[in-house]
Amino acid sequence: MNDNKFTGRVYLVGAGPGDPDLITRRGYALLSTCDAVVYDNLVSRELLAELPARVECHYVGKQAGRHTLPQEQINELLVRLAGQGKNVVRLKGGDPFVFGRGGEEALALAEHGIPFSVVPGITAGIAGPAYAGIPVTHRGKSGHVVFVTGHETSGPDAADVPWSKLAGLRNGTLVGYMGVAQLPAIVERLLAEGMPPDRPAAVIERATSTAQRTITAPLCELPHRAAQADVKPPALFVIGEVISLHDRLDWFETLPLFGRRVLLVQPFPHAEELGCRLRELGAEFSNLRVFHIKSEYDRRAWARVQARTRPGDWLHFSEAPGVANFLEMWRKQGKDIRALSIYSIAVAGVDAESELNAAGIIPDLITTSEIESDIAAEMADQLDLQDRRVVMVRGTMADAGSDLRPPGSGAEIIPMIVYRRMPAVLEQNDLEQLTINFPHMLLLPGTTAIRAVAEFLTIDGFKKLANNTTCVALGASAVDAARTLGITVIESPVTAIDTIVQLILDSASKRRDTR
Ligand code: SAH
Repeated sequence: MNDNKFTGRVYLVGAGPGDPDLITRRGYALLSTCDAVVYDNLVSRELLAELPARVECHYVGKQAGRHTLPQEQINELLVRLAGQGKNVVRLKGGDPFVFGRGGEEALALAEHGIPFSVVPGITAGIAGPAYAGIPVTHRGKSGHVVFVTGHETSGPDAADVPWSKLAGLRNGTLVGYMGVAQLPAIVERLLAEGMPPDRPAAVIERATSTAQRTITAPLCELPHRAAQADVKPPALFVIGEVISLHDRLDWFETLPLFGRRVLLVQPFPHAEELGCRLRELGAEFSNLRVFHIKSEYDRRAWARVQARTRPGDWLHFSEAPGVANFLEMWRKQGKDIRALSIYSIAVAGVDAESELNAAGIIPDLITTSEIESDIAAEMADQLDLQDRRVVMVRGTMADAGSDLRPPGSGAEIIPMIVYRRMPAVLEQNDLEQLTINFPHMLLLPGTTAIRAVAEFLTIDGFKKLANNTTCVALGASAVDAARTLGITVIESPVTAIDTIVQLILDSASKRRDTR
């Protein structure tokens, strides 16, 4: 063993076959606590997107025009990183020891005295058939499963796979990895060795992802059918009687939103829950952040609030980040949340309200307008604001508050900026989703999402997007904002998750034939 106590540990972790939710709990926990991740191209990008910023990432997979990093260099990289005292996750598609060369990496680590652990993953040969509705074993149909590599049918590695024996097997399932290019040669060989040409067979492409495709055919027709469908790696082939169950057990590719790409403009407070629900229904769900929130400390406003407000004055919040940033600054100034009890609290919008609720505050008044001068007027209609102060807690993209005193209300309005919205720098992929590879559906929660997309794309660009994508405005104010800009949207006047999901389902069933 290495006696250098500063050496890190390498974790050979199986990421599962594609669906990011199929990693183990242990693997997932290691990703958020390690110092470095070394990954290749079969690993789900979503898992990597969630990594904390401090984790260093090394991609060692295939790149355009370049081959995979040679195995020796990967081994060296692992040894070097661990030697620097880092805990390293070597993240591999499926299981690290099933055709993943994990064994070779473990040997190199052992040789250098680097401590390592193996975290198994769900291998594609198990997960792929499962998602295709093909049980790899089944009473009466299959009593054994064989995993083979289809990489080489001739040459030095070919001897590893006893094709002639496999051709003679009955009542079992043969699962082949890395065999897309070699499929015609493999099938020819199996047939030549006596496997019946009508043996049920299948190819599963990009298994467990929302782009999964399953093609079934009698063995002798499989290569032709796969070529016709232009099957590309990663794909598996499966041969055996169990494939006949696919028609009845095909649960994944028949999900109501299977294969539909849904893009949500963030922030949306229920994004995670919505994402879970849509993925459960088969959709590919992703988020797009068109701006980020930067807290802003408005010294003059705080001083004014301190000096001028009295018990019975009002605080008005209109957006969730406003609530969060205000409360954080309140705490940072050494103030107890109970000190807020001298104020009455008003709120506009469900998001801001639920943020207040989360902090244990139940607002005294709910307003419906979003524009500040209207809010003040609305409050003045319902309350006696004579000689009261109303602190309007805001972000900078909200309408500026110069003319805020509603005529005759008698209230003094104190605008208070607690955050600024900064335009995000969009990744190439995100930009393309808005301008070229349009998603099936774009969800626009709130006025700010609509304004931000309009700013990014111009109104004409937004209209083009809306012509190619079903845009859904979430919440009454978003619906109004879209209408004002002349953007055609489906209207979801409320942001309740059930309503949104139902709307997406309805729209998908209407458009299924047209896209
Ligand atoms: N260690 C991996 C296998 C790596 S070898 C595992 O346990 O799954 C790479 C081969 O795995 C591919 O050529 C393909 O045959 C198979 N494979 C990996 N991911 C797949 C997927 N999502 N769908 C279909 N086949 C997949």
